[in-house]
Amino acid sequence: MAMVVVMVVVGTLFLGLLGLGTLVVRDTVRRRGKWGVNPRPIECPNCGEPAPVVRKPANRRQMLWGGATCAECGQEYDKWGDPVGADAG
Ligand SMILES: [Zn+2]
Repeated sequence: MAMVVVMVVVGTLFLGLLGLGTLVVRDTVRRRGKWGVNPRPIECPNCGEPAPVVRKPANRRQMLWGGATCAECGQEYDKWGDPVGADAG
């Protein structure tokens, strides 16, 4: 009986990780979305100011999902350098 429980738990974890991995790969490949990984430096889509190297999240979304607020013009953008509305996400 304990074996069955362990197998169910491990199976659930495995499927969860698989799903998460799929999301990360998908968003990384298409270079948008919350889950991908962007190794490239980004810059402000509005004025071209490079994002700060040491990222200081201005809100909860930036903390969770990356992105920055432009120091020059105040434009908020995500980790792909795409503009983000003030109330998005
Ligand atoms: Zn800017």
